[in-house]
Amino acid sequence: MKVIIIGNGLAGVTVAANLVNMDESIEINIFSEEKYTYYSRVRLVDYVVGNVSLDELFVYDENWYTQRGIKLHLNSTVKTVNTNKNSITVEMLEGDAKKNTEYTYDCLVIASGSRPVIPDVPGKDKSGWHVLRTIEDCDGIREHLKQVERITILGSGLLGLELANAFRSGPNSRDTSVIEIEPMAAPVYLDKQGATVFLNLLERAGVKILVKTEVTELVGDKTIEGCRLADKTIHKGDMVIFACGIKPNVDFLRNTQMEIIDGIVVNEYLQTNIKNVYAVGDCCEYNAFIYGINPAAIEQARICAHNIVKPDGKLKIYEGTVPSVSFYGFSTEMVSLGRVNEFTIDPDEWKDIYSYYKVDMTLGVYKKILLKKHQMVGAILIGDLEQQLDLRKMILEKIDVSAFETEILQDGFSLRDWL
Ligand SMILES: Cc1cc2nc3c(=O)[nH]c(=O)nc-3n(C[C@H](O)[C@H](O)[C@H](O)COP(=O)(O)OP(=O)(O)OC[C@H]3O[C@@H](n4cnc5c(N)ncnc54)[C@H](O)[C@@H]3O)c2cc1C
Repeated sequence: MKVIIIGNGLAGVTVAANLVNMDESIEINIFSEEKYTYYSRVRLVDYVVGNVSLDELFVYDENWYTQRGIKLHLNSTVKTVNTNKNSITVEMLEGDAKKNTEYTYDCLVIASGSRPVIPDVPGKDKSGWHVLRTIEDCDGIREHLKQVERITILGSGLLGLELANAFRSGPNSRDTSVIEIEPMAAPVYLDKQGATVFLNLLERAGVKILVKTEVTELVGDKTIEGCRLADKTIHKGDMVIFACGIKPNVDFLRNTQMEIIDGIVVNEYLQTNIKNVYAVGDCCEYNAFIYGINPAAIEQARICAHNIVKPDGKLKIYEGTVPSVSFYGFSTEMVSLGRVNEFTIDPDEWKDIYSYYKVDMTLGVYKKILLKKHQMVGAILIGDLEQQLDLRKMILEKIDVSAFETEILQDGFSLRDWL
């Protein structure tokens, strides 16, 4: 069987590794528009501020692919997919020239990932703004950092917070602010009260954070000198980084018959509407949701590989991934598990959700659990992560907690005593 994988990120390499483990006879070709073998995006923030070297980013070198018989094509951009002919057209670099080549497949896996959302704000003709997704993005920021005094990060999601923490820590600490259009920090991962606790900790660490604030223009002459805000004031800063979310890489599929809403729509087997085409990772949309996190990419990739090989003759079902993000920085730690607010729970379901919480503003500790019909659907822990394994288990295993739900956040609670 000939399998083509588009994308050499976490999802793509995980599919390839699992295919090889199950059936060494499969002919695997991976196409990547990047010039590097697989590296960790999670560590890019450390690379930007020089905490890790370029070499330390790489997870797999060329040997990893050759030892497994996987053919990796770098600098190779897939331009079109022809699902009637089971083929893709790839633009490859040969010296300085570009050349188009067609490859055929029995099964296609799209793992094309995502790219940063760049908001439609005037002033982007000026230099001084960046996004962060690839090694090249980081190299651009590192070079610019040599001349920069004030950094403004747009967006307070996980990436925005990680960047703010990196720029505020260590010997090269800079004046750093975060601007968030929503009324609270980390709107996907926290709730209002948790965000207030977190905001307090950020401010103690010296990060300025402006919530409910819209940037309407990037101002300056040829280079950015600041951001004009909706109230017409200017927020000064000579580097702007957009950390405003992600957008699946699906443009090259627009002329195909593949069903795409925001991402490539997949069913519970990770199949697209075309039978022998799968999609996994940041580019795919399952149950109207794009996860954009590593645990989902890994889980989807494993199930996809299984469903291509079917070692036990059966298809495996993907039931969605319990979202899980951790953040360590600003002298605190935070974990968000499952679905925790109105942004991630739809309004019909939201009315059935109830919660318990515990807060200590002075110590910067906040714990909250969200439940529906005595099963936990989400949890937030800030400043004290001791219970994270118990909470994760309750969410993943859909444990009925009716006998002890009021006890869970009490000191000394242990799930083991109740099971
Ligand atoms: C800085 C940063 C920090 C992060 N931190 C965390 C974290 O702490 N925890 C967490 O869970 N997640 C984190 N994430 C998100 C996580 O990295 C992604 O969810 C994960 O990388 C998704 O993997 P993927 O393989 O689907 O996509 P990607 O890693 O985006 O890989 C897709 C690859 O496909 C290539 N490609 C796209 N289109 C084509 C084409 N037409 N032809 C050929 N190649 C193509 C792309 O160039 C890319 O190399 C972070 C992301 C970033 C950028």
